[in-house]
Amino acid sequence: MTRFVFITGGVVSSLGKGLGSAALGALLQARGYSVRLCKLDPYLNVDPGTMSPFQHGEVYVTDDGAETDLDLGHYERFTGNPAKQMDNITTGRIYTNVLARERRGDYLGATVQVIPHITDEIKDFIREKDGSADFVLCEIGGTVGDIESLPFLEAIRQFGNEMGRERALFIHVTLLPYIPAAGELKTKPTQHSVKELMGVGIRPRILLCRSDREIEKDELRKIALFCNIDENKVIPALDVSTIYEVPLSYHAEGLDNQVLDCFGLPDEKEPDLSVWKNIVHRIKEPEKNVNIAVVGKYTNLNDSYKSLNESLIHGGIANNAKVNINYIESTVFENDNTMAELEGVNGILVPGGFGERGAEGKIQAAKFARENKVPYFGICFGMQMAVIEAARSLAGYDRANSTEFGPCDNAVVGLMTEWTRGNEKEERGNDTDLGGTMRLGAYPAALKAGSKVAEIYGTTEISERHRHRYEVNINFKEQLEEKGLVFSGMSPDGRLPEIVEYADHPWFIGVQYHPELKSKPFDPHPLFVSFIDAALKQGQLV
Ligand code: GLN
Repeated sequence: MTRFVFITGGVVSSLGKGLGSAALGALLQARGYSVRLCKLDPYLNVDPGTMSPFQHGEVYVTDDGAETDLDLGHYERFTGNPAKQMDNITTGRIYTNVLARERRGDYLGATVQVIPHITDEIKDFIREKDGSADFVLCEIGGTVGDIESLPFLEAIRQFGNEMGRERALFIHVTLLPYIPAAGELKTKPTQHSVKELMGVGIRPRILLCRSDREIEKDELRKIALFCNIDENKVIPALDVSTIYEVPLSYHAEGLDNQVLDCFGLPDEKEPDLSVWKNIVHRIKEPEKNVNIAVVGKYTNLNDSYKSLNESLIHGGIANNAKVNINYIESTVFENDNTMAELEGVNGILVPGGFGERGAEGKIQAAKFARENKVPYFGICFGMQMAVIEAARSLAGYDRANSTEFGPCDNAVVGLMTEWTRGNEKEERGNDTDLGGTMRLGAYPAALKAGSKVAEIYGTTEISERHRHRYEVNINFKEQLEEKGLVFSGMSPDGRLPEIVEYADHPWFIGVQYHPELKSKPFDPHPLFVSFIDAALKQGQLV
């Protein structure tokens, strides 16, 4: 029997609901239950694919090619379950589905309304998960009280009613702000937030109270009294120094016990959390240090490179090293042409990106890494820029560029208008929609035997997730290989370059896909493990 846990948030946004949900998933797994996590996003975009990373953080791509919310990345990193298209839905998608049905005549005769048509569509999305796991954890994006959230809250209220208390549970995450002048934590915003939730008919049975400091027993008692919640179900969720400590901290405060208690499930046995203890230990007590420069564009918002950030940490965990990540705006290498910021770094990573701004700076960073034998990891855009650099500096194509920035003479990177996926042909044009039309999701690649990547992966057949519109132009392969840039990974039909590397460089690898989407703290991605290892070796040289 599947049990449903709904997680809402109150008081402010950015409370870490996604992390909390992921951590609860990991705890239930550690107790031997299967879990599935999903997220309902109240915004009107059909998916986050067209939103700027500045606005909404990274877009997380699933194997089945969905562009989803970055919280799905947390879910996957904490539970190891690959996220799917059907794990994330937005208001935009819900309305698109309902309106398509209305046009088809599915509701013939009826007036189409938020209740029941929109709420039914939301409930169908949730119900689809029935039977897929012991627990379905469903996070509602946004904050209680937002206009956009209302249909979602109404839908989960109805769903909770239909399932009954034995199968549905509401957890509310709130904040206890500390007011320095009063010298205390305030519970009033939490009381108001619960009231707001009760106002739409949802009674939370567990409260997760975020706070930057210890919460006194008296305060917890007060919240329990005012919010009509069992005292031991008002759970402190204090800030921790690494996100991978969250499962341990929530367990210590009794979150998983209380969830089981709500469903009347036994909890005699302590869960085995040794995996998490080990990860936290390695993060907190590293033996070595390594400095990585990430040369990108969205460097002032942490969330825009979420998975990348975590994957570098995972690479550090595997090497017992603390990874110091220095985000550098690539444009700095364009203005004064000095590479001073890269002097002394142990590794350079150029991540995914879109558009012309900053591209020349990334090309400079790739050149610096190649010439100075500094480990270089180019991901998607970072691979494309490294290939342009090789074409310009080594193969003599001075005007080599990507058609992403406009028409050019030597289109070393160009728009791919046709390719195959399995047995299906995919087609794109210059003027097709921008939403959901990139090469998206998992594609297989064949690695060249004996290459560095084949050695790192320990196999010659891989599958990785993609999200890009442009491709390295196969017509330049021969000239570039003559100059030492090996095309060591290709699509199985041999048409799309997937990986390039220099054989005569300690570590210079560019990949057209996004390996950071599949790395987990307990199963770090081999490329990140190897990159950090190479950077550590480089550190010993300087
Ligand atoms: N802008 C490039 C493309 O569309 C790279 C995309 C990316 O780095 N994800 O091909």
